[in-house]
Amino acid sequence: MKKTVLKRIGLCLTAVFGIVVLLDAGCIFYKVTGIPCPGCGSTRAYLAAAQFHFREAFQMHPLWPLTVPLLLVSIWKEGNPFGKRKWNALFYGLVAVLYVGTYIIRMALLFPDTPPMLFNENALLPSIARLLGLIS
Ligand SMILES: [Zn+2]
Repeated sequence: MKKTVLKRIGLCLTAVFGIVVLLDAGCIFYKVTGIPCPGCGSTRAYLAAAQFHFREAFQMHPLWPLTVPLLLVSIWKEGNPFGKRKWNALFYGLVAVLYVGTYIIRMALLFPDTPPMLFNENALLPSIARLLGLIS
């Protein structure tokens, strides 16, 4: 029992560390496609919130208060937060709908010229497209 709790704490700390390292490296999806992913702006949101700039935090990512707690609960419960497959599927489905829906709204309202939903013309795919003469 005690070993399981320590294992879960270790998993959560590892996950938080991994997330911080990955986010600090920047978004790979953005660097390749030039288009922000559904998580883009999360790091900036948490950094703004840490400085009590909550308006800026919500501008960077409106779901920032949910992201880390959802990840931690999911890891803590080893991907099985409700113990029943049906409820887990409903939970993860709702989370997916929430994040994808928010992403679609953010793309419609902010892309391509409002942070954090900027277009990166120097990303890999736009650079290749420019080399091939597909875009100017
Ligand atoms: Zn991203």
